[in-house]
Amino acid sequence: KVEKLKKLKDLPAITPDGKKVMLAANIGTPKDVKSALANGAEGVGLFRTEFLYMDRTTLPTEEEQFEAYKEVAEKMEGRPVTIRTLDIGGDKELPYLDMPKEMNPFLGYRAIRLCLDKTDIFKTQLRAILRASAYGNIHIMYPMISSIEDVRKANIVLNEVKAELDKEGIKYDKNIKVGIMVEIPSAAVTADILAKEVDFFSIGTNDLCQYTLAVDRMNEHVKDYYQPFNPAILRLIKFVIDAAHKEGKFAAMCGEMAGDPLATVILLGLGLDEFSMSATSIPTVKNIIRNVEYERAKEIAERVLNIAEAEKIQKMMEDIIKDIE
Ligand code: PEP
Ligand code: MG
Repeated sequence: KVEKLKKLKDLPAITPDGKKVMLAANIGTPKDVKSALANGAEGVGLFRTEFLYMDRTTLPTEEEQFEAYKEVAEKMEGRPVTIRTLDIGGDKELPYLDMPKEMNPFLGYRAIRLCLDKTDIFKTQLRAILRASAYGNIHIMYPMISSIEDVRKANIVLNEVKAELDKEGIKYDKNIKVGIMVEIPSAAVTADILAKEVDFFSIGTNDLCQYTLAVDRMNEHVKDYYQPFNPAILRLIKFVIDAAHKEGKFAAMCGEMAGDPLATVILLGLGLDEFSMSATSIPTVKNIIRNVEYERAKEIAERVLNIAEAEKIQKMMEDIIKDIE
C-alpha cells in the first residue's frame, strides 16, 4: 500500500469525473519543504512562522525572517506559499515579550490582536514577507481574525509597509494575495462579509472546533467534546466555502481536519478548493480523491449535513472509504 501511495506523488488530485483540488502542506520551518515536495505537495497552504520567534531571547530581525521566507519561496519553485503572520499568545508565550497574565489566554491577547497592538513587530514581519515575495509565489495570511475591522486594520499596516518599500525602491510582488484564517466562529458566520475584503480563506478547524464547541483543544478531560464532525462545524464549513465562491475567492483548509481521511469526501463534496495538511497525509488523501466521483461526494456531503450525530457521520465515512484501496 505504501508503494502504491508513493506512485501518486506526481499525479494530480483529481476525481474520476474531473474535479481537481489542490493538496498542500503545512510547514513549520524551511526544513519541512523537503518532505512537502517528497509527498507531492502542490504548495504550502500554511507556513507557521512562530518557530522564528520561539526558543530565543530576542525578536528575530527582518533579515533573519526574510532569509527564511525566501528560502521556502525559492525551494517551492513558483508553487504558492501561504505565510501566516505571527500567531503567538494562547499557549505559545514569548519570554522576551512583556505579555500580560491572562485568565483565558486563548480568548486573549494573541495573534493578530498582538500584532495590531505592537505594530513594530508586525511591520518587521510584513517587510520580510513582502521582500521575499520577489522570489516566489507568496501569499499573506492573517490569523485569528474575528471581524472586518481586524482585516482592515491589518491591511492599513500592510499598505504602509508597501509604501515604505516603494519609497526605498525595494522589489516585491505588487499583486500579492492576502487572505485570512477562518478559525473564530464570528468570522465563519460573517464569511459573506469578509469574503469581499480578502483574496482567500483558510479554515482553521483546530481553533474553529475549540471556539465553536467551547472545548479546550489541549484538555484531555473534554476530548470527547472536541468533534470536527459535529453538524455545527460542518455547517460553518459549508457556509464559509459557499461565501468564498460567491465572491469568486478560493476556500482552503489548513486545520487538522483537512488531512483526516474520514473528512476528505465531505470536504470535497462541499467544494473545498485547497486541502493543506501535514505532508505525510497527502498521499492518503489524494488516493481517496482519485477514487471518488465528485457527484457522489456532493451527495454524501449533502446527506451528512442533515445527520445529527458526529459519531454517526464518522461511522458512515469509515464505511465509505473502506472500499478505496
Ligand atoms: C487551526 O487553528 O486550525 C490552525 C491551523 O492553526 P493552529 O493549529 O496553528 O492554531
Ligand atoms: Mg489556529
